[in-house]
Amino acid sequence: MQVADNFINYKIIDSLLAQGFEHLPHALLFVGARGVGKRTLAGKLATILLCESLGKSSIKVNRPCGECAACRWMKSGTHPDFRLVTSDNEKETEEVTEETETKKSNEKAKKQAASSIGIDQIRALENFVFTGSHRNARRIILITEAEAMTIPAANSLLKILEEPPSSVYFILISNNQKKLLPTLRSRSRVVPFSRPDDQTTARWLEQAGLDAQAARYLDLAGGAPLRVMQWKNNGQLAAIDALIESLASAPADPLVLATRWEGLLKSKTENSFHMENLVEGVQCWLFDLALEQASGEVRYHCGWPRPKNIAALNPVALLAGWHEINTFRRSARHPLNPLLFLESLAIHYLRALRPMNS
Ligand SMILES: [Zn+2]
Repeated sequence: MQVADNFINYKIIDSLLAQGFEHLPHALLFVGARGVGKRTLAGKLATILLCESLGKSSIKVNRPCGECAACRWMKSGTHPDFRLVTSDNEKETEEVTEETETKKSNEKAKKQAASSIGIDQIRALENFVFTGSHRNARRIILITEAEAMTIPAANSLLKILEEPPSSVYFILISNNQKKLLPTLRSRSRVVPFSRPDDQTTARWLEQAGLDAQAARYLDLAGGAPLRVMQWKNNGQLAAIDALIESLASAPADPLVLATRWEGLLKSKTENSFHMENLVEGVQCWLFDLALEQASGEVRYHCGWPRPKNIAALNPVALLAGWHEINTFRRSARHPLNPLLFLESLAIHYLRALRPMNS
């Protein structure tokens, strides 16, 4: 697929492989914000390392052929020398990738995992790492969201990294490297991914079939075009629009607002707009109201219509509301009673909007 290919920054691949495959470090750590292409690139690099046509004169240097058995297995998610380790937090952040490798093994891994990566998942790799390869001698392990590893899991991985067999490569991905064990960082070659510049972003959005309007979702997505694309593919954009509309012109009655939100969650297409997305949306909205009142700027909602009465709002209440919603974020995954949860959220939200003198 051409589109996915366009999201790959081949400069990174070429610089990693510039000294030849034998000089590629055995542990790579891709760090950077969500949705800037780390996962897509990791899948491509894994395919390159496993491709069985590499070195043939008909094949471009450092590019997989796309046709050999290994390339086909990577596409279908069945390569015996590739392992994906992930937690189910990744559900929403999965990037678009031609390597459907990620899809299949992902689903399998998700079933085993909770929101963290446990020691069992790392121990399960030992056999894979220390027995020989099935095909061309290289084996690849891709760990997404490496910061989700529990400490025992990370320690267990460190042990493997002490003396990895020469043909085994680890690619770790982290959206939040501050949460990683420092020793894990120091054992890996850190590869930073920065946000693409405006021009590249505009090109990506266009290639992804998103119009100029889509630019307004970019700040909501932390400047990460792949995340916007993910939202689009999940059918989330309409829900985001509706949520913002409900916040900008909120009814005074919390139950009415909660029911509106409930409808939003129910109308979702499969695997798209979840309670945690909704809570995050409310929190970002409050954050921007407070920021706009203080500085006249917004961080997440550039390009969106803004409410007119911002100056009349109570700054203390806005910040308190924003802060209180942290507790909602913690339980948003599995609220006991979703409607009650939403009603309570609506009460907090509306309270945060009270005018200056009340
Ligand atoms: Zn190939």
